[in-house]
Formats: sequence, C-alpha cells, structure tokens
Amino acid sequence: MNIQKILAIAVFWVISFSSIAQNQQEIQQVVEQAYREFKGIQEGKNADYIKELAKVDSSIFGIVMVDTDGNIYSAGDHFSQVSIQSVSKAFVLSLVLNQSGPAVIKENVGANATGFPFNSIIAMEINRESGINSMVNAGAIATTSLVNGETANDKWEAIVSKLSEFAGRTLEVDEPVYISEAGDNQRNVAQAHLLKAYNKIYFDADQSVDIYTRQCALSVHARDLATMAATLASGGINPITNKRVVSAEAVSYTLPVMATAGLYENSGKWLYQTGLPGKSGVGGALIAVVPGKFGIAVVSPPLDEAGNSVKGQLAINYIVEKLKLNPYLVASNP
Ligand code: GLN
Repeated sequence: MNIQKILAIAVFWVISFSSIAQNQQEIQQVVEQAYREFKGIQEGKNADYIKELAKVDSSIFGIVMVDTDGNIYSAGDHFSQVSIQSVSKAFVLSLVLNQSGPAVIKENVGANATGFPFNSIIAMEINRESGINSMVNAGAIATTSLVNGETANDKWEAIVSKLSEFAGRTLEVDEPVYISEAGDNQRNVAQAHLLKAYNKIYFDADQSVDIYTRQCALSVHARDLATMAATLASGGINPITNKRVVSAEAVSYTLPVMATAGLYENSGKWLYQTGLPGKSGVGGALIAVVPGKFGIAVVSPPLDEAGNSVKGQLAINYIVEKLKLNPYLVASNP
C-alpha cells in the first residue's frame, strides 16, 4: 500500500468517526431539548383507579434513548422508578412468540385493533370471533396464560426472567402496587372469566389474572424501558448486554401488534404522527421502537383520557420529528 492510500484511509476514518460523534452529540441535544420543552406541561393526571398509582410523584419526567450499538442518551429523571403496567404486554407477547411462534397468537388471541379503551368489555363482545390483541387487557391476560409452564410459578418465573433480560438487570415487583391492584381488580377478573366462557384463556383464569397483575407491577425506570425497546429495535439482542433475548422472528411479530394497538383507541393517531410501534402503561411509561436504530422511553405519570402519558407523547413526537425517525419518511433523490 502506498502512502497516499494509507493517508486516504486515515482521513476517511477520522471523518466518519467524527461524524458519528457529531451525530451522537446531536441526539443528546435533541433529548435535552425535548426535556426542556415539555418539563413545564401541567396537563393530564395520574391514574387513580389503581389507588397506589395516584400517590406516585406526578413531576417525575425522564427521557432515555438507547441506540442499537448500546449508546445511551438521556435527560431528566431517568432512574426514577414507576410500575411498568401495560408496557409489559409488548414484552410478554414477544416471550410467547419466542416460545411458541406466530400462529399461536394469531389463532388464540388475535391481532386486530379494537378502537376501544384498554379495559373494554364491549370490545371483547364485538370481536368475539375475529379476536382482539395482546395490547389490551383481555388479550394480554390470554397472552400471559399462553406462557409456557406447568404452574403459575413457572409462568411467572419465565416472565420475570425474560423481562429482566430485556432490561439487562433483575426487575422486581413493586409490592404496594401489586397489592393495591390485586385487591381492586374485579374488572380484569371478569374479563378473564368471560375469556374462559369463550374458550379463549389457556390456563386457570384467576391465576392468569394474578400473574398479569404481577407483571404490570414490575418496577422500571426510563433507562430500563429504553433498553427494553432498543432490544426490540435490535431484532431481539439487548445492545447493552449483547445477549440474545428473543428471536428476530418474535420481534417482527411483536412490533406490528404494538403499532396496531399499543396506545389503545389512540393508536391510529399515534402512528399517524410518529410512524412507530409504541406502547404505553398507566404508570406513566411510554416506549417507541425505531427498528434497526433506537429504543425511546419516557416516564411521566400524568395521563390523557386514553391512559397514555401526556409528556411521553409530546417528547417522543418531538424527538421523532427532529431526528427524522419516522420510517415512512422516505426522502426521494432530487
Ligand atoms: N394493570 C393495568 C390494568 O390492568 C394496566 C393497564 C394499562 O397500563 N393500560 O388495568
């Protein structure tokens, strides 16, 4: 190799590394801007139908992005913990897909949007034949009942260990949240028994609700959630631990269900604005997945009418727009 060639290669590397560094700096700046822009927003209110959630500090606001190389960008309260609530639904779905393949979900749960709130019983009735989806309560309880395991404890262990692999650390149940919801869970119990009447639950109904309630009470912070989302963005490999958590196939069937129903009756509006699969929880968590690129997570407890974090939606919309992360945004060549 002559000296010119060596120089040319060296210049190429310096330029490409500095553009990566510049890019990373820009991402961090956008995350900080989103934090500053929406920190003062007062709209929305904590969920209170689970009494313990009403007590959570409404001012918690953390934003984290994790890219598929494991770089972390963050602003605000990124280590403040909330219960994962319905965000768990996406990861338990991917666990079942990983264990049993896509046909099991298609045949036993369904993958259609309901257009109704997450705990709607009308949606169950209307979609009795066509099926619902794993992102609303009834479908999520059915999905949890499909996790492999002879006993409730086996299923629970499978869930907590898989969700911990997604997060890259051992997750624990927020006991007061679990106890609070378990004592006040008549609607989910009713839905599980209705599923049983329709032959659409695949384990004991009461135990399935109990496992589901526990999975919803797992305690997470924005960094956990962004890592979990980034694991989906990386096709099932946790980009921080570099461990494969679920198969690429499991991810490819999880993301469409999130895109269809991850924000319940507002899923269409969300997809219209971001183009991204997302998932919210009534604890105030919201995640979005940019396939092949990023996991994005926001924790902020005040919710809108549909049960989606107000600041979460604002911050993710802002980031997606500024960094042009909508996968439907195809810049055509001039
Ligand atoms: N555990 C909650 C419930 O079943 C989860 C709901 C949610 O986050 N949307 O009501």
